Formats: sequence, C-alpha cells, structure tokens
Amino acid sequence: MNDFVFTGKISINAFCSHNTYWKSACSKCIEVCPFEALAIDFDNNVVVGDCIGCGVCYSACENDAIELNRNLDIDLVKNVTEPSFGCIFAKGDNKISCISRLGENLIVYFVLKFGYINIFKGNCEKCKFKMSLEVFEKNLKKTQEILKALDISFDAVKIEQSSLDKPFEPNFGISRRDVFKIKERVPKRDFLIELIKENIKQSAEYIGTIRLSINEICDFCSICESVCPKGAIIIEKRETAVIYFNPSLCSACKNCIDACPKNAITAKKAFVEDLIPKALKLFEKPKKICSCGNVYYTDEEICPECEIKNKKRQELLSYIKDLF
Ligand code: SF4
Ligand code: SF4
Ligand code: SF4
Repeated sequence: MNDFVFTGKISINAFCSHNTYWKSACSKCIEVCPFEALAIDFDNNVVVGDCIGCGVCYSACENDAIELNRNLDIDLVKNVTEPSFGCIFAKGDNKISCISRLGENLIVYFVLKFGYINIFKGNCEKCKFKMSLEVFEKNLKKTQEILKALDISFDAVKIEQSSLDKPFEPNFGISRRDVFKIKERVPKRDFLIELIKENIKQSAEYIGTIRLSINEICDFCSICESVCPKGAIIIEKRETAVIYFNPSLCSACKNCIDACPKNAITAKKAFVEDLIPKALKLFEKPKKICSCGNVYYTDEEICPECEIKNKKRQELLSYIKDLF
C-alpha cells in the first residue's frame, strides 16, 4: 500500500493568472478547496491560509501555478507498481487525498504504462471533498479526449464504486527535512506533452486549451502579451508587427480576451494536437510612421496616440463651443 495522501502545504508560483493581470477572474483553486484555505487578498493575489495539503487545487489549476511540496506526480510515477487508486475511504492500492488529485497527465501515464488504471470512488457525494468531483470529471473528460487522439479506448480507465469498511490511516507526520527537500518537478502540461507528442494518431477536441484569433481592429498595443501568465503570446515589432501564439502553453485563462482594450481576440475550441508546441502567426501588419514621428502598425492615417489626442481635442472643442 502506497501512501500519497498528504502533499504538503501548497504554494502559488508566477504562472497564476493573477500574477500578470490584476483583474483576472480565475478562482478555480479557491472554489474547489474543501478547507477554504485559499483566498484573494486586497491586491487580487491568491494567498494560502490553513492548507492541509490535499492537492485538489493543484489538479484544478490549468496554469500549473500550484506547487506541491510532497508526493509530486513524479513520486507517483516512480513508486506505483499497481495502478489502482482511491482515497482513504475507498479501495485502491495507492492512497491519495481525493481521486481528483489524478490529473489527466497521470491517468494517461498509467494507461500507457500498464494498459489500464483502476480508480475507486467512495461515498463521494457525501464527502467534504465533493466540490472536487467536478475537477475529477473535468480531468476524466480531458483524459477521454487525449486517449481518443491516441486511438486508445477509454475503457482502459476503470472506475468503480467501492468503499472500505475501515478508513485507511494516512501518515500525516512530516519532518522538517521533507518540507524543504526540493524534488524533481515536472509541470502537468509538460508531462502530458512528453507522453503524447509522438503518439497522436487522430484529431480530437481538447478542453484544456483554446485556439485564438485576432481581428483587424488590433493595434498591437501588446496588452495581451503582458497579461498572459504562460507566455503563450509573443509580439514582434520590426518592419512588420507579428503576433505569435503557442496553443500548447495556453491554459485558456482568457486574461488576454478580457484585457484586450479593442475586443480584438476571440477563442475557438482546440484539439489535442494543439498541445504540440508551435508558433502560430495570428496577425501581422506592416510598419507605418505617423506625422508625429511615432511608429505604428494599423491601417489608420495617424498613430493610436494621435487618434486619442485628436478625440480629446474634439471633446474639448465641443465644451468650448458650449460656452458661447
Ligand atoms: S491560475 Fe491557478 S492558482 Fe491562480 S487563481 Fe487560477 S486556479 Fe488558482
Ligand atoms: S489583440 Fe488586443 S491586446 Fe493584443 S495587441 Fe491587439 S489590441 Fe492589443
Ligand atoms: S493566451 Fe490568453 S487564454 Fe491563453 S494562457 Fe495566455 S492569456 Fe490565458
């Protein structure tokens, strides 16, 4: 029996959507935490309170922004010899805090390694962790999409309802040494890409990322680039300005869509093959020089700054006219 229940108090890294965009609406980790240990502070950053280290938020965060201290994915990969998982109230050779701890990367990994995975559900609907069932269902949906692309039947994921008569007693004891020991970390998305990149056989929709497109109204202000927590958008401005997008990095957080002052960005559904790293050219425009000397990249006769100044000037003139 392997005990992977306690993951250590989590921390939030720089990939959190709130780190690059103060108005980010993401609160997935907060919504799924069964112990209300996470909150948004006055600066709109996610803060960690009395975390018990269940790791459910880790599984819910699409940005790979949550860091576990113990029982990392790599530890499960190294130590599991029988791919059967359950929480302390359910059957399963490997004890985890909640079945939602199994991200799509781990489920796909065990299916590829053993040909199947057994996941035992306990009395989930009545459990304190029931909010996290939604995370589990989402991870299963992503797994299903990935397995479809790999041409592997979803029957390999066996889910059974089976409670234990007596709950398993996890070892919550944690030494100071364990807390500070840095182990090999592999972000979930990188882990998944490594697993599937050589094996995709067919197209299948994937809910973990999105395809972006940018329309003519874009003026290359670069706000989307700066609010993207994953570095999925890069804007190059030379003789031509070009917006590049890498869907394999994108977590579908929609910061870019919400922050674009021109409402120039739209999202479409993505496919498993979008997880393979690439640079898509989303939009380009040749350089222009405004009479004020500014370089800009729109079809207009003047640069965006002069456009704003002209608008303000017109407004002021209309106020002056009203005075007489
Ligand atoms: S990006 Fe991750 S850590 Fe940040 S708020 Fe969203 S779920 Fe939480
Ligand atoms: S898409 Fe929007 S945010 Fe990005 S450069 Fe264009 S106008 Fe700016
Ligand atoms: S490209 Fe947009 S939706 Fe994707 S991670 Fe970056 S900000 Fe979020």
